[in-house]
Amino acid sequence: MNKKQLSSFKTHKITIKKPFKFSYKEKIVCPYCQNTEDFYEVIENATFIVYYVQNDEGMLEPIEEDVEVLGPVRFFCGKCHADLTLLKNRITSGKE
Ligand SMILES: [Zn+2]
Repeated sequence: MNKKQLSSFKTHKITIKKPFKFSYKEKIVCPYCQNTEDFYEVIENATFIVYYVQNDEGMLEPIEEDVEVLGPVRFFCGKCHADLTLLKNRITSGKE
């Protein structure tokens, strides 16, 4: 692992990490258009909390991001925009 990447967190750009990490054992295939590559997720009612440290120059440096998801997370095909939430839940249920 590259530990230098963490310590060079000097930019003041906010990068939001993906809230979830999925380990797919099986590929998701859209049953409507056979798409296997492009998907997107809609997270309703999520709160992003970004923690900052202010340095001597008055710059804010983000040190940590937290995501609190309150609403449902829905998963869509990126090509035909079909709701694949149930399909994804079926595939990703089981061991994480
Ligand atoms: Zn599709």
